[in-house]
Amino acid sequence: MPLTNVQTRDVEALLHPYTALHKLRETGPLVLDHGKGVYVYDTQGKEYIEGMSGLWCAGLGFGDEELIETAKEQLSRLPYYHLFGGKSVEPAIELAEKLKEIAPFEASKVFFTSSGSEANDTQVKLAWYFNNAKGRPEKKKIVSRVKAYHGVTIVSASLTGLPNNHRDFDLPVDRILHTDCPHYYRFGEAGESEADFTARIVGNLKAMIEREGPETIAAFIAEPIMGAGGVIVPPKGYYEQVQALLAEHDILFIDDEVINGFGRTGNWWGCETMNFTPDSISCAKQLTSAYAPLGAVMVSQELYDAFVAESQKIGVFGHGFTYGGHPLSCALGVKSIEIYQKRNILAHVRSLAPQFEERLKRIADHPLVGEVRYSGLVGGVELVADKTTKRPFQPGHGIGALCARHGESNGLIVRAIGDTIALCPPMIITSDELDALFDRLEKTLDDTERSVAEGSLR
Ligand code: PMP
Repeated sequence: MPLTNVQTRDVEALLHPYTALHKLRETGPLVLDHGKGVYVYDTQGKEYIEGMSGLWCAGLGFGDEELIETAKEQLSRLPYYHLFGGKSVEPAIELAEKLKEIAPFEASKVFFTSSGSEANDTQVKLAWYFNNAKGRPEKKKIVSRVKAYHGVTIVSASLTGLPNNHRDFDLPVDRILHTDCPHYYRFGEAGESEADFTARIVGNLKAMIEREGPETIAAFIAEPIMGAGGVIVPPKGYYEQVQALLAEHDILFIDDEVINGFGRTGNWWGCETMNFTPDSISCAKQLTSAYAPLGAVMVSQELYDAFVAESQKIGVFGHGFTYGGHPLSCALGVKSIEIYQKRNILAHVRSLAPQFEERLKRIADHPLVGEVRYSGLVGGVELVADKTTKRPFQPGHGIGALCARHGESNGLIVRAIGDTIALCPPMIITSDELDALFDRLEKTLDDTERSVAEGSLR
């Protein structure tokens, strides 16, 4: 099909993130125009169920009047100020207080950024600063995991454990290590139980710590449920074992809650669902339900005390972003948390989770589906060439992208992560809307299967 006018303007003007650039010139983008609730509409007026909350972020859906009013009010009152050098704004103070209240650990202070990547870059800088302050300048390495996603700035992309984020970008930088991905279906060995798999990969982490020397390792970073690596739910007991190992070697546990946070798994935080207690947290996305960009890092009293001591020595804590604590974003953060609380969004997620699970399990019987994974209202459907042997499609075959395209034809937006179809609908979705989402997904899988049979994979 020839490109529409707006599509032509797009490909002539934009360098698109995370896009097969060569293909986009032929297909053109899907240009979205407006949204309401769980629905978005393109410039032709076609309706889609937003099965991904955008990029796992618009948890309260689109067109929420309370959030829109909040934004208007804050923009009229004070559209911008900053927190540098002793200035402050009330929305940032109030949001920090609220975050401390709901934090799953003894959070002492909150540092604001504009994104998840900046939050994780900040985490690494803070871990380095902390260990310098503690007189341990050699304790600097950060352990992340294969298939982790922590962002795209130079250090956060280094933490990310996906080849596309490293190859050709000269990453990862040094002092970043990657340990095993806790995905039993893909990485469990033949005949290995889930418990044995867990013991093996935690054993590998232990061996890595011993090999590198615990005195050189500052922190371990993890998303409780791994998102952009393919919605991976680690086995029971995994985090308890990891946490014990880290504690033994005085290694900080950084929890990346950028996707998991604010109710996505049915609790405020993924670490509560997965049963561990971190030393610090990164969050973003649903922090404002994506109505404005905002990220945050929450740190413990121990970290904060060390920062104050170091700042006393060297004069100034030399880190901060122009938009860190932006009053518009922070006002939207305060309002989002208020809405999560007063509309009982967490209870709503928990009440829909069994239906989400049941519909996913039904999909697990589909001939194209190898495994379904889920927690709360986030899920993944892994497509395979052979269900019995788990054999994936040939690399580069594009089965996931094909499925996502069929989804769009069927009025459903999902995200293809390689061969896994990710689902992360707005948390305000109703039971009927959730059924409609899965009806469209089932048709999409059938259409994809038909295309595969016809050999039209590419
Ligand atoms: N951490 C996690 C777990 C994420 O999923 C993402 C984004 N998908 C990031 C960090 C990076 O966030 P941002 O795109 O806002 O920089």
